[in-house]
Amino acid sequence: SGREPHAYIFAGPEGVGKFTTAREWAKMLLCKSPAESQHEGKPFYDSCGQCESCRVFGADSHPDFHTISKELVVYTKDGKNKKPGIDMPIDVVREFLIEKAVIRPSLSDHTVFVMLEAERLNQYSQNAMLKTLEEPPAFCTIILVCTRLDRMLPTTQSRCRTVVFGSIREDIIIKKLQEAGVMTTEARYWARFSQGSLGVALTWSKLASEGANAYEIKKRTVEMLARLKIEDVVDAAEQLAKDASVLAGLWDKIDPDTSKSDLGRRATKGVMRMLCCILNDCMQLGVNKVDSLINSDQENLVRDLARRFDPEEAALKIEAVYKSMDWVGASVNEKLIFEELLFNLI
Ligand SMILES: [Zn+2]
Repeated sequence: SGREPHAYIFAGPEGVGKFTTAREWAKMLLCKSPAESQHEGKPFYDSCGQCESCRVFGADSHPDFHTISKELVVYTKDGKNKKPGIDMPIDVVREFLIEKAVIRPSLSDHTVFVMLEAERLNQYSQNAMLKTLEEPPAFCTIILVCTRLDRMLPTTQSRCRTVVFGSIREDIIIKKLQEAGVMTTEARYWARFSQGSLGVALTWSKLASEGANAYEIKKRTVEMLARLKIEDVVDAAEQLAKDASVLAGLWDKIDPDTSKSDLGRRATKGVMRMLCCILNDCMQLGVNKVDSLINSDQENLVRDLARRFDPEEAALKIEAVYKSMDWVGASVNEKLIFEELLFNLI
């Protein structure tokens, strides 16, 4: 109806289907003859899958569907020598959203803009797009996809309808991973590691080649931490930094569109997340809740480690890991970050 908002925020953890949903919805909005059916007593619309719009959408070449990412900076007017950084560049917001939002659709009756990683918009960029969010042309729908709703200014949020995506049940993730050929023990680990994110679990279970894989690295990391002595810290830190760079290399093969520095950061944070999971298990064992250890596949090692400190200490160590995560990408040598972290974890 005329009163439906045209700007949305899809918020929720990484890998729970925000972009997939945005895409499906866009396909339906752009479809020339959407199919109506009843779902629990309410009308439910879906794209027909056959019209011209649906066909070009399926081929990723719909002229009225726009995906906006920070990587587009190289295609902005002054972007020839620019590299994608951490923020969503304001030039991308201006040239790919604000200026294009007023252009009429060419194939369908609508245009749809989906901005990825909208949590990377700084306040200037968010202020620049307020007017576009407030009164987009009637044919235009804008969806901001973000993992951190708290990064969106109140003024941005008030102009959008927010849809919050929750995490996915563990048994569903395990089943999906098994269907993708992942062994059950491994699938259970990645399901718990990902905290309900199917996308994260699938990605990590796929980080594998003949020589190395993420699950082996995680098993080695548990062994390392369980036996860590102060004289081993330097070598262990070097190994973790090496593991992170191996993982980043594997990641690049399945996700070549993301910049290498982003993948490097994600891989390093992933290794830190493995450490976090181990400490989390120690904390659980300390308070006798042992039904769902993340590292249930290496329970004995985790139990050995848990005897070394109490739950409060484990909580402090988890905090130390989160602090180290903040250093990742701040141009500090990763081996040094791991060294400092491991000293804190003994
Ligand atoms: Zn269609």
